[in-house]
Amino acid sequence: MTLDVGSDLAISVYNTLTRRKEPFVPGHPGRVGMYVCGPTVYKPSHVGHMVGPVIFDTVKRFLTWVGFEVKFVVNITDIDDKLIIEAAKQNSTVPEIAERVTGDYLACLKALGVHSIDLFPKATDHIPEILAMIESLIAKGHAYPSAGDVYFDVSSDADYGKLCNRDPEQMEAGTRIEVSDRKKNPGDFALWKGAKPGEPSWPSPWGAGRPGWHIECSAMSFKWLGAPIDIHGGGLDLQFPHHENELAQSECHLGHAFTKYWMHNGLMKTGDKKMSKSEGNEVVVSALLKRFQSESIRYLLLSSHYRSPIEFSEARLEEVGRTLESFQRFFERFKRITKSSFHELKTKDRRDPKRFNASVLPEGFSREMVALAQRHVESLADDFNTGGAIGSLHEMLTRLNRFVAESRLEEIADPANISQLIQGATLFRECALLLGLFEDGSKKETGEETGLVDGLMTLLIELRAESRRSKNFAMADQIRTGLTSLKIVLEDRPAGTIWRQS
Ligand SMILES: [Zn+2]
Repeated sequence: MTLDVGSDLAISVYNTLTRRKEPFVPGHPGRVGMYVCGPTVYKPSHVGHMVGPVIFDTVKRFLTWVGFEVKFVVNITDIDDKLIIEAAKQNSTVPEIAERVTGDYLACLKALGVHSIDLFPKATDHIPEILAMIESLIAKGHAYPSAGDVYFDVSSDADYGKLCNRDPEQMEAGTRIEVSDRKKNPGDFALWKGAKPGEPSWPSPWGAGRPGWHIECSAMSFKWLGAPIDIHGGGLDLQFPHHENELAQSECHLGHAFTKYWMHNGLMKTGDKKMSKSEGNEVVVSALLKRFQSESIRYLLLSSHYRSPIEFSEARLEEVGRTLESFQRFFERFKRITKSSFHELKTKDRRDPKRFNASVLPEGFSREMVALAQRHVESLADDFNTGGAIGSLHEMLTRLNRFVAESRLEEIADPANISQLIQGATLFRECALLLGLFEDGSKKETGEETGLVDGLMTLLIELRAESRRSKNFAMADQIRTGLTSLKIVLEDRPAGTIWRQS
């Protein structure tokens, strides 16, 4: 049983710039460059910061599986007003805080299974590239120095506002714009900021200073991905002013398109408020990971469409935990039947080039599994609809369990049926891995600790069986009741007693 939806697989992406879904065709055949705006590293990551990385990690997983070679870059903003303020508050330095908070960010990504980012360039490592770009913008008449700062002149760019589809006056009305008598127009934004005494700074033709936030993303994306880049991603809150400004300065510098597809993910909300440091309602990831499985967090982030807001609450995470238990029970069932681990099933990293069509298979389990897997892939091909793909995973789980029940696999170890189950589970695993789910079973299945628990449980189950044989029912009941209080359920089956955590 292999999975391939054929060469007719059409991928579509919603492009914020054109406000419609478009066929996905990268600039260079077979290769994709993807740039996603990363964090300003001044405070530990909250769960809202993980939405973009998890979504775009999934985008890369899927595009790679389809056959593209994807280079994925996420920048680290390690110089910014917020960092300077935080360093003063903590009586520390900007580099010290930046390094510590970057470490926290990378640890959070790892915990959530975000492994696909190829490069994390830092703003402070790209000062020469940033200076060169500012000089080019001044030479072309799109920027001007003013009292140690350099500003981009929005009135010099006839296209300014095209990403958000608003004219500059409307944009000013809805946003905080720094008022300054150094600017020609209120909407002009700083490319370079002159340093105040004691602030971190770099020499420049306009005096010591530091780069503005927007220019660093343009300079780093050109350096590492060239232009135009295929996908530029980020949270919806970055659309204006950050991405509008990035786009304007980049296209004025290049004289051609900066990005083919702009993708914006919805923001995390608690109640009706966006989760943010400034709202004071952020949930710090490292604290959350002490109480919830990382898989539950990843599942929650992928369960709705990436362009919709994500409702966060601990009650929802608990609910996800219960949902994941049903998958876990199947993995345990699979192990009992096949004597092998679901998490070690070998799947294909790339879509099978051999065209495979569910309709040519005979009616039955295999054909239904392939059809569900195809639907899973079609969901992801349709603007990365991860919520739809998760729906298919649930249907595959139901079909796998029904196959086990119908063929009575827990009682009759029929080799042909076991082989079909393994093939079906492998297909399911291949689909789940596109979402980065159920990648690692180590916490549940292997490891010394679990090995010890398995051994102790086998011993207790044998003691209980022995008690029943010798008609010591009080002892047998005591063992079962004691285990129930530890949230362990025993199930007596024809092939023996099994246990699971409730
Ligand atoms: Zn950016």
